[in-house]
Amino acid sequence: MGQIEIDNKSGFCFGVVNAIKKAEEELKKGEVLYCLGDIVHNNIEVERLEKMGLRTINHEEFSQLRNVKVLLRAHGEPPSTYEIAKQNNIEIIDASCPVVLRLQKKIKDKYEHEHDLSEDTQIVIYGKRGHAEVNGLIGQTYSKAIVIEAKGELEILDYTKNICLFSQTTKPLDGFQEIIDIIQSRMIGNARFEYYDTICRQVSNRIPNIIDFATKHDIIFFVAGKKSSNGKVLFEECRRTNPRTYFITTPNDIDYTVINKTDSVGICGATSTPMWQMEEVEMTIVKIISQLR
Ligand code: SF4
Repeated sequence: MGQIEIDNKSGFCFGVVNAIKKAEEELKKGEVLYCLGDIVHNNIEVERLEKMGLRTINHEEFSQLRNVKVLLRAHGEPPSTYEIAKQNNIEIIDASCPVVLRLQKKIKDKYEHEHDLSEDTQIVIYGKRGHAEVNGLIGQTYSKAIVIEAKGELEILDYTKNICLFSQTTKPLDGFQEIIDIIQSRMIGNARFEYYDTICRQVSNRIPNIIDFATKHDIIFFVAGKKSSNGKVLFEECRRTNPRTYFITTPNDIDYTVINKTDSVGICGATSTPMWQMEEVEMTIVKIISQLR
């Protein structure tokens, strides 16, 4: 029988694992627990937690609540969320990722320092406009930070004035480097340019890891939700490395005919794929292979 392996570098990052663990601990107490935004971008996992009693809400619903418990997910929140919680007697279960919290503090300190010096420094965040993490980051600067999604937007910066650049934790390293190079080449006069690499390696190393994993097996089952953008990128990398790569969302999607009894099978997934989903796939493949013998 061929070997079956689950990629231990696939699946949720530690920030998300920690948020889910916190949610489960609270839910076990049997009280109502609200979560501000989807705890993870994976419908099946959100539904599993909702069956345990988790109620997902948006910011508008959050501001209407009083005297309840609300979990903040790994992406982090701006200061205004904590202020509303205080006013409305909401108990916060803070599952903001420590990496994101450190980045928020860095941006806040920088903003306050520059403000104290009355420097006209532009705090720039390379990230996705409207993304929950980015909202939490710009909240540290009273929304004064400038968000840049791609190099094409760099003309909005004033290169005669200081620039201090940060990145959302999940942006690609090469894109960040490109932004740095362009800004550097445009700076004028005595204006200062500082940048901080704040990209989380839990995500940025996924592509080399998945390429490495895909080469180790004859056939790969890539498990992810259809809407996962990270899933699409990683799946394409995997398939480019190993053409016998199949995208599945549940074990029901496995095509029995593509598996051969001597195949070594790899199971991997996106950053939003829970380990238990990959384990279900593994169990199904074990059954299929045993039937082929
Ligand atoms: S900072 Fe890294 S570990 Fe934390 S939530 Fe984001 S990707 Fe996950």
